[in-house]
Amino acid sequence: MPGRQLIMSFPVTATSHSLAEYRARGGYQALEKALKTMQPAGIIKEITASGLQGRGGAAFSMGRKWQVIVYDDGQPHYLIANADEGEPGTFKDRWILENNPHVLLESMLIASYALNVRNCFVYIRGEFDLPYRRLAAAVEEAYAAGYFGERILGTDFSCDIVVYRGAGAYVAGEASGLIASLEGKKSYPRNRPPRLTVKGLYQRPTVVNNVESLSNIAWIIAHGAAAYKEVGTPKSPGTRLFSVSGHVNKPGVYEVELGYPWMKFLDEDCGGIVGGKPIKCVVPGGVSSKVLTGAEIKELVLSHEALWDAGSTLGSGGMIVIAEGTCMVTLSQILMRFYHHESCGQCTPCRHGTGWLHRIMDRIVAGNGRPEDIERLYYISKFNDGTTICGLGDAAGYAMSGILDKFRDEFEYYIEHKRSRYDGNLECLKSS
Ligand code: SF4
Repeated sequence: MPGRQLIMSFPVTATSHSLAEYRARGGYQALEKALKTMQPAGIIKEITASGLQGRGGAAFSMGRKWQVIVYDDGQPHYLIANADEGEPGTFKDRWILENNPHVLLESMLIASYALNVRNCFVYIRGEFDLPYRRLAAAVEEAYAAGYFGERILGTDFSCDIVVYRGAGAYVAGEASGLIASLEGKKSYPRNRPPRLTVKGLYQRPTVVNNVESLSNIAWIIAHGAAAYKEVGTPKSPGTRLFSVSGHVNKPGVYEVELGYPWMKFLDEDCGGIVGGKPIKCVVPGGVSSKVLTGAEIKELVLSHEALWDAGSTLGSGGMIVIAEGTCMVTLSQILMRFYHHESCGQCTPCRHGTGWLHRIMDRIVAGNGRPEDIERLYYISKFNDGTTICGLGDAAGYAMSGILDKFRDEFEYYIEHKRSRYDGNLECLKSS
């Protein structure tokens, strides 16, 4: 692992996802500690003190989200692990589900105990085949070993789990859309308030956390919040999993201590750039995060605050590295096609805006672009911002304007010459 201390990852073998190997790595000891020596409020206090931030994109404090749940309000509470990982370039939760599913289950049990949850859920992306099979097998193992069901480990705590497969909509990864889908409806996101922690699944208080976020819980309970905060930076404690794709020699999933130098990570850990080319830009955290140029990332470290200061975000941890020679106009066309396809259509600015962005990009790439198209793309991107129910409408605009800000000259060239400066080089697609 780049950095100091291993929290999430370990050397993977063909059987390391099994219960036997998880136990050999110390698995389920944190659950025993939590159930037998800690009070629910003490667990929430520990998670809050650790400074753990959500790893799904928003980087919101886990502890503060949990604190909204009133333990003894007489209502059923629900916990949902969001395993609907669909952000392009992001595949780090898949790594956990395939290689370490029990860390998610143990962490969910601890969270359920803390939040007074009797029934918890994993909402997993429908396209995930091996992750689903590994997770389902882990659930069976955990039930057989007495970690789920009645009176777990001889305590008064009982908990059941359901693994629910989605049907492949990107908006189902948005927490309220996910809940609608889990209730058997279309995965339409809904406006807030009320917050999901007040009225979520079946109109009851519900916590939805990302897979990686939850999977940190077992380690924090086992080792304590103070030990967790020793890793990372004061504002970005712990480690993060990054799924790295694009023009690096060693794409894959890496656990990185937050605060780690970005170029050191790419040059040494990821094996440098394919063909030794310079870095043109990097999508830091899924395609909804704004691109940063090679020059901009040179002195940056991988932390939330460093990325926010630079005008972007670590987002979902899906890092796409793009080498010099890649056509950003063509890349933008692909991104806008994605957002248009995935818009659920509820909000007019998103429904029409993503369609306009997509069609204008198609027109430019076909050689029929107009000089005023660049300002039009900016206008639509801005128009979407803050006017929609969920973040998809905003994200399409961020991605589009983020690329235009940095590479406007490529769009001007394409419109004037009716072809790419790189002659339609699609290298970015071939190697990602
Ligand atoms: Fe649907 Fe787009 Fe509105 Fe989100 S922003 S709810 S995807 S129409």
